Amino acid sequence: MELFPPPAGRHLCVQADPDDFFPERVTAASTAYAKALCVRCPSQPECLQQALARREEYGVWGGLDEKERRSLRRKTRAAGTT
Ligand code: SF4
Repeated sequence: MELFPPPAGRHLCVQADPDDFFPERVTAASTAYAKALCVRCPSQPECLQQALARREEYGVWGGLDEKERRSLRRKTRAAGTT
């Protein structure tokens, strides 16, 4: 069974402007709107897990931007949990 993308209607970004999720420069301001949608999205846990598993390099996925995902992967590796 395909876990990603989430079933239609369960992901709040479907009608959002892609530029909000893939800004040219990743800053707190440029990603704030996308992250605010992700916080309310019922697919957030699965979305973040899948983005980490796929090593998504760009964009906001599951509420984290690429820098935050890289940081989380480093911390997870350092903790020896993967
Ligand atoms: S968590 Fe964010 S990126 Fe993932 S499906 Fe929901 S709104 Fe889209």
